[in-house]
Amino acid sequence: MRTSIATVCISGTLADKLHACADAGFDGVEIFEPDLLAAAESPEEIAALAARLGLSLDLYQPMRDVEGVDDEALAAVLHRAEAKFRLMRRLGMDLVLCCSNVGTATIDDDAVSADQLRRLGDLAAGYGIRIAFEALAWGRFIDDYRRAWRIVERADHPAVGVCLDSFHILSRGHDLSAISDIPGEKIFFVQLADAPRLSMDVLSWSRHHRLFPGEGEFDLADFTARIVDAGYTGPWSLEVFNDTFRQTDARRTARHARRSLRWLEDAVSRVLPDAPTDLQMLPDSAAPSSVDFVEVKAEDTSAIEELLAQLGFTSRGRHRTKPVTLWTAGEARVVLNEQHARGWEPRLAAIGLEVDDAEAVDLRMGELRVPRAYRRTYATEERLDGAVAPDGTEVYWAQAADEGDPVWVREFDHGEPERATAITGVDHVSLSQPWDAVEEATLFYTAGFALRVDSATEVPGPRGLVTSRVLVAPGGDVRLPLNVAPPILAAERAGVALPQHVAFASDDVRAVARSARDRGFAPLEMPGNYYDDIAARFPLTEAQVEELRDLHLGYDRDAAGAYLHFYTRTIGEVFFEFVERVGGYAGYGAGTAPVRLTAQGRR
Ligand code: MG
Ligand code: MG
Repeated sequence: MRTSIATVCISGTLADKLHACADAGFDGVEIFEPDLLAAAESPEEIAALAARLGLSLDLYQPMRDVEGVDDEALAAVLHRAEAKFRLMRRLGMDLVLCCSNVGTATIDDDAVSADQLRRLGDLAAGYGIRIAFEALAWGRFIDDYRRAWRIVERADHPAVGVCLDSFHILSRGHDLSAISDIPGEKIFFVQLADAPRLSMDVLSWSRHHRLFPGEGEFDLADFTARIVDAGYTGPWSLEVFNDTFRQTDARRTARHARRSLRWLEDAVSRVLPDAPTDLQMLPDSAAPSSVDFVEVKAEDTSAIEELLAQLGFTSRGRHRTKPVTLWTAGEARVVLNEQHARGWEPRLAAIGLEVDDAEAVDLRMGELRVPRAYRRTYATEERLDGAVAPDGTEVYWAQAADEGDPVWVREFDHGEPERATAITGVDHVSLSQPWDAVEEATLFYTAGFALRVDSATEVPGPRGLVTSRVLVAPGGDVRLPLNVAPPILAAERAGVALPQHVAFASDDVRAVARSARDRGFAPLEMPGNYYDDIAARFPLTEAQVEELRDLHLGYDRDAAGAYLHFYTRTIGEVFFEFVERVGGYAGYGAGTAPVRLTAQGRR
């Protein structure tokens, strides 16, 4: 499988982009014309740079409004095309994208469009160039790949074929079965983009909201598998117009893009297990079974220690070789790390996940070229494998322990005997994401750890909507809501704009709240108005509402059950939540979150 990417996907000058794509391991690129026009280098210099970097120049794009026109307009098209063909020769390129007419078309007739593409094909062939015709989803008359193929078939010219672009086809919901009607050698090029399902005009959707494969809601594995099955052997090329990716660091985005194709290669190879292709599956690994630990890092972790002690955690002592302490409650393990944390306020630095096959996860991360997290360990200590998530959080994985504490817990000395507590483990870990990291983070967790996007929601905060996308482990006990603050907050504080938080599970959250209060704990205070609303919305007795009010508990219900929870105050950039799921409640207390965001803002 050859990989390619349109230069429009990433930021910078054309030369920057070529360097970034080569660095990320792409085999080639599509040259997006505006990038070339703005480049300081001549076409020959660009060709030489690409050759030096080992990149093929796969597709020149776009050439617009070339068919469905009257004779006078066609003369202008051919004049313009010939100039571009000469330019392509200077670049050493032999394939150009022609998209269906959106502007100048006046004739809605397959015969006319086919004839004009044939004449364009004759002209192109004289320069050793081929034309890939693409139906834009918003083409004036041709907006369907099936019609584009009909016209190409009718043009019947060796230099004229089709370009299949997943966005244009999947956004319109067109039936994919006709892909198998197109001979593989007439599919000249394939462009891949994912996208969220949005209800908006398709042009704006395409220009601003395309995503890399694996990050949206299109079934790209099925789409791509059909094209492979049709006999297409050309590059898989990413064409992703996205405002965020075009603003982030080119090298980082290029690596992220390349990772998405590795994910897709795996997904397609699973759809086509017996196809004679060179597609490689990623090593199989089941999703993590549980959260092994969370790590809070700070120069001084004493405020967190005090809080954990009030909440019923037990100090399990200090690490044998590092300034690190461990606190546990049930299966919840909190590591407090003061190593290399000079000047740091408390923040969630790492999470550990228990997996069924640590070796497979390690191999997957290698294949996906994810940056690795390194911890110095000594011979007598458990080795810890980890990767750095796009938001900077280190995510470690370890083989799940059969029973009781994981082995690494024995590296901590002088702990106290474990206290009885109603805390059972970690319910979820909310990772607030910088605005430019959430898509990449989604791919990191889905491709690396086989998590799935479960739900997405928007929570009104005091300064705008906070979007939340929840990643879950199918069949496991790991839930990671990824939260993105509105840009105004993000702009104020580069990096993490919202505090991160760990929600601990409990089978009696009222008991946890009460005994914490007895030890001097003060929860995040919920306003009286909130409880008036609870009383109005839910079938609770006055006494039940009073108890919630007294303990500053939040309350929510869904069809399956109820959710009771309370929050600690924020320390540095982290806070904790304690939750009890009654019945099969599946949410995260979204009804309480706006009140919580405002309460946190107040403090
Ligand atoms: Mg396209
Ligand atoms: Mg366990």
